[in-house]
Amino acid sequence: ASSALSDYEKLHVLGHGNGGTVYKVQHKRTSAVYALKIVSSHSDPLVRRQIFREMDILRRTADSPHVVRCHAIFDQPSGDIAVLMEYMDSGTLQTFLRSDHNNTCGVSEAVLASIARQVLRGLAFLHSLSIAHRDIKPSNLLVNAAMDVKISDFGVSKVMCRSLDSCNSYVGTSAYMSPERFDPDTYGSNYDGYSADIWSLGLTLMELYMGHFPLLPSGQRPDWATLMCAICFGDPPSLPEEASDEFRSFVECCLYKEASKRWSATKLLTHPFVLSKLEAV
Ligand code: ATP
Ligand code: MG
Repeated sequence: ASSALSDYEKLHVLGHGNGGTVYKVQHKRTSAVYALKIVSSHSDPLVRRQIFREMDILRRTADSPHVVRCHAIFDQPSGDIAVLMEYMDSGTLQTFLRSDHNNTCGVSEAVLASIARQVLRGLAFLHSLSIAHRDIKPSNLLVNAAMDVKISDFGVSKVMCRSLDSCNSYVGTSAYMSPERFDPDTYGSNYDGYSADIWSLGLTLMELYMGHFPLLPSGQRPDWATLMCAICFGDPPSLPEEASDEFRSFVECCLYKEASKRWSATKLLTHPFVLSKLEAV
């Protein structure tokens, strides 16, 4: 990709997130299509530092087939930062939840095994670089027409570091957060971001299967207090009886409340659920 933002024409808005807006853009000379995320960083040094951390991670992860590729980063005189990414033409798994790929009652196990395998490969790659994503959820898993699933949005991910002060940084709340992230004793000390990613993946796969967020009854509007109680004090959610034994076991391995019991991404790649349905998609 060439080096100036003016080489790209904005086609339309793809979506809005907490930090900014994502556009579909086209390179004027080559006609190649990309996604461009524009984050207004204002002059807040904390925001700026977070974005540069994100940029650094994106650069380092440019060569994983299961992480959305970052082609260029533009630092604007206005303070805005623009990140040129690979365009994923089938949207996110969030939209996939409501598409024709499933008929109101959820995604098939064969498709879920394929999704699980791809996300786990992405996570295994990130974790091997000492990067915890920290915001795995359907809207941060992007899909293309080839059914490639890739991890995106490093807005809150960070390089796991030994030093206490950076581990204490507040990264916001999400329904997909694991129990230990609510615990002030573990959070910031020996808080393990890797197993938290596994918890979030487990919930994401359950949601795709069940068609609603697993910790809340179908149709219930998310109430943060109820949700936090369910995560911290309830039993981990489990799949309904009609799910296969392999799938139920896989989800169980992701959703141990005790972080140290959860399987790692590498180990989960050897789980029968991921292996057994290899030929299915
Ligand atoms: P959050 O701020 O909580 O992460 P989000 O993931 O929806 O929410 P963004 O990461 O800013 O926010 O993305 C906004 C939307 O833009 C996404 O939901 C997705 O629909 C779209 N999008 C983001 N990146 C791409 C991409 N590389 N290719 C295609 N669409 C994308
Ligand atoms: Mg996002």
